[in-house]
Amino acid sequence: MKHRELRARLIETALRMNALGLNHGRSGNLSVRVAGGLLITPSGMAYDAMRPSDIVEMKADGAVTGPRAPSSEWRIHLDIYAARDEAGAVVHAHPMFATTLACLGRPIPAFHYMVAVAGGRDIRCAPYATFGTPKLSVNALGALADRRACLLANHGIIALGPGLAEALELALAVETLAAQYWRALQIGKPRILPAKEMARVLKKFEGYGHASAPARPRKPRKPRKTRKA
Ligand code: 13P
Ligand code: ZN
Repeated sequence: MKHRELRARLIETALRMNALGLNHGRSGNLSVRVAGGLLITPSGMAYDAMRPSDIVEMKADGAVTGPRAPSSEWRIHLDIYAARDEAGAVVHAHPMFATTLACLGRPIPAFHYMVAVAGGRDIRCAPYATFGTPKLSVNALGALADRRACLLANHGIIALGPGLAEALELALAVETLAAQYWRALQIGKPRILPAKEMARVLKKFEGYGHASAPARPRKPRKPRKTRKA
């Protein structure tokens, strides 16, 4: 896809992120990988005022061009692309429920099998560090090990995917899980699925939603002969 189209797509996705209630105001930031670097939302700008020319192009060494400053979290985005070949887009947001849990430093455990959507048996919460610092990037990448999403303590969430649509969809899934977990905590002690069951779920997820035909059903067994009395 051409850079101009990707710039427009970044703004569309940011507007959708806010319209979905995943983020409020100017918080959050988004990026997409391009040859030799990334395109990222500018720092501190309202999404509805953003024009394609406001999107910042950053090279793999951190060099930027254009009139705007890149998002203050550019280092997390850059570090994710350097460390994770499968990442084509990164979404960072401050959604209500996931951020509430993150303010308590609480990860999302396997209270629901869908936690596997982020790639593992829980969704970790990265330790707190000041926004926009290299330390926050180190903490985030640690919490993202073998995962596609994590919470950031006292801050928000990060989700990555092959493209912007997938990264946003994952951010929405994390927020949905956070809201369900929060509700479950209001009325009791959620039952946590054992590691063995989550391993089974993760295995099933590997083939879930793929276009290939489902496993062929087994032939029905012949009914057993029953002895006549
Ligand atoms: P930017 O506007 O600089 O992207 O910052 C928003 C944010 O969420 C910082 O963590
Ligand atoms: Zn933030």
